[in-house]
Amino acid sequence: MDCIFCNIIKGDIPSHTIYEDDIAKVFLDINPSTNGDLLVIPKKHIVTLLDMDEETLSHLFKVIKKLMPILQEKLHCEGFTLVQNNGYGQEIKHFHIHLTPRYENDLLSHQFNKDLLKPLDEVFDSIQ
Ligand code: 5GP
Ligand code: ZN
Repeated sequence: MDCIFCNIIKGDIPSHTIYEDDIAKVFLDINPSTNGDLLVIPKKHIVTLLDMDEETLSHLFKVIKKLMPILQEKLHCEGFTLVQNNGYGQEIKHFHIHLTPRYENDLLSHQFNKDLLKPLDEVFDSIQ
């Protein structure tokens, strides 16, 4: 299968792997937003959260919880932002959680188009 992350798992594409077990792999994002920006992925080729089984998902979050204090100590970061894109906005179609260490003045932000925003009541009604 022509999947970059599956190829990283196989070792056909090199990566800066900081953690690995039978289910998960954690490596540095090639295009980091902050120092130590990581990708946490399942070894199984799963595309979005909708395809993900509870057991694997829970394992990925256990790994994240285990790594956070270690990263905090080693990188001296002040917090973490977790992002997980599905479908639109998802460049790599292999499930991944961005685990991004946060630092004062890192200026990390997500931009959005305020012109597209409808009144809250209207949005609430359409979700009902
Ligand atoms: P997405 O936009 O799908 O949520 O994020 C995909 C992420 O994968 C991006 O942050 C991008 O920099 C990262 N990425 C893409 N190709 C590679 C690669 O070959 N190696 C590594 N380490 N990261 C990659
Ligand atoms: Zn894959």
